[in-house]
Amino acid sequence: MILEYTLSIIKPNAISKHVIGDIIKRFENNELFVVGLKMMKLNFHQVLFIYNEHKDKLFFNDLLKFMISNPVVLLILEGYDAINRNRLIIGHTNPVYSAIGTIRKDYADSITENAIHGSASKEAANREIYYFFKQDEIYKNNISI
Ligand code: ADP
Ligand code: MG
Repeated sequence: MILEYTLSIIKPNAISKHVIGDIIKRFENNELFVVGLKMMKLNFHQVLFIYNEHKDKLFFNDLLKFMISNPVVLLILEGYDAINRNRLIIGHTNPVYSAIGTIRKDYADSITENAIHGSASKEAANREIYYFFKQDEIYKNNISI
């Protein structure tokens, strides 16, 4: 397995539920370690960057309003096979189909307000990580696994 990096975004509804710590613990328990972390309120441009592929969908406006409604927490996660394993821990986009024990099963309020984002591919992970973080804000290789 290859050591990979991925981006997760704890979405506004999960911030309101006060489960930042629980979500980070789930990643750490699964050997996905935080090597970058930021809290911020996203703006329109940042949401468009993350969700560009969805900009013409009917749900985009609601998704945008939700994503800028409150702060989010951005996490860069380091681990073996991090991109796929992150998505497994997060669960299906629609919480109705999310497996028991996944973050979305436990904390999503709806398909839009589904608690957390995880990069979909290696390309997406790189794009998203370097859009939000400067090189010196990422602590790769400082943490032994
Ligand atoms: P994922 O976040 O699992 O990669 P997508 O990339 O398909 O899912 O969608 C991005 C985000 O847009 C989802 O996490 C969710 O917040 C929202 N979304 C996706 N599909 C729908 C839908 N059919 N109705 C409402 N919101 C949606
Ligand atoms: Mg996606």
